Parts: sequence; C-alpha cells; structure tokens
Amino acid sequence: MQVVLKKCTKCKLTKILTVFVKRNTVSGYGSWCKECANKHIKQPWEKRNRKKIAVKNKKWYKNNKKEAQRRFNEYRRTHRDICNAQVRRYKAKSKENHKRGQKDNNRVGTKDRLMLRDRYIKKLLVGKTSLCFNDILGELVELKREQVRLSRELKRQAS
Ligand SMILES: [Zn+2]
Repeated sequence: MQVVLKKCTKCKLTKILTVFVKRNTVSGYGSWCKECANKHIKQPWEKRNRKKIAVKNKKWYKNNKKEAQRRFNEYRRTHRDICNAQVRRYKAKSKENHKRGQKDNNRVGTKDRLMLRDRYIKKLLVGKTSLCFNDILGELVELKREQVRLSRELKRQAS
C-alpha cells in the first residue's frame, strides 16, 4: 500500500494521511491532523480566544468604568456567603501546608506579579474578601487585571 503524506495546516508537521480527520473533501481527509483537531475541541472557546476576549474586555472596561465597578461589587456581594466556607478551608489548608514546610500551590511569585498572571490577579481578588479561587470568573480576572494595569500606569506616571 502506498503511504500518502500530508502536511497539517495547524501544527505544520507532515504526517501519514490516515492520522488526519476524515472530511468530505477530494482526499477524504481534512487539513488538520487528529491531534490538532482534538486539542481544538478540548480547549474551550474562551481559552482559544483569550487574546480577543482580553482586547474586548479592555475596551469595554475603558468605556464602562462605573458599570465595571458595580459588577465587581455585585459579584463580591453575591459570592460572599457561598464562598466563606471554602475560603476558610483554603486558608486553613495553606496554613497547615506552611507549617509542614510544603509548597503552597497557589503561591504567587515575582514573575506572576510583574506579568499580571491569572494566579496573581486571583490572589488579589481573593485578598481581603471572601471570594474563592475557583469561583472567580474569567471576566472578573480580566477586569481586575485592567484595573491593576491602569493603577500601575498611573503610579508610573506620577513618579
Ligand atoms: Zn496537526
């Protein structure tokens, strides 16, 4: 049997035709290999469009600062009760880990802080409130990130 090779347009690797997704095309196969197709399906829409969403949120935040603040407060208020218990558990656990000298998985490093990574933003959001880590919506993280970015920018300009 002849081995037919095909280049995947996603990962740019040349692979055997049979590892491509079957499609109703002339060759009978699509332009992505199964591996890429699977990855694409498994990743939620938000993850695939992270940058797009961030840009959109940034714009929205600039134009709706008051509304953003309101949503922020609303979120805090509505989640306070639900998350109280979880936060207590989380704090107790990390305290215990600390005692045992274990690494806290949610620890925030300098790089996280500088690059405004999700875990840093989430830590800020959890901070003095009763929010819980896992319940923080992506949207809220983006908002907070924008807020921190702006305040850093202002500080930078002032100094
Ligand atoms: Zn591929």
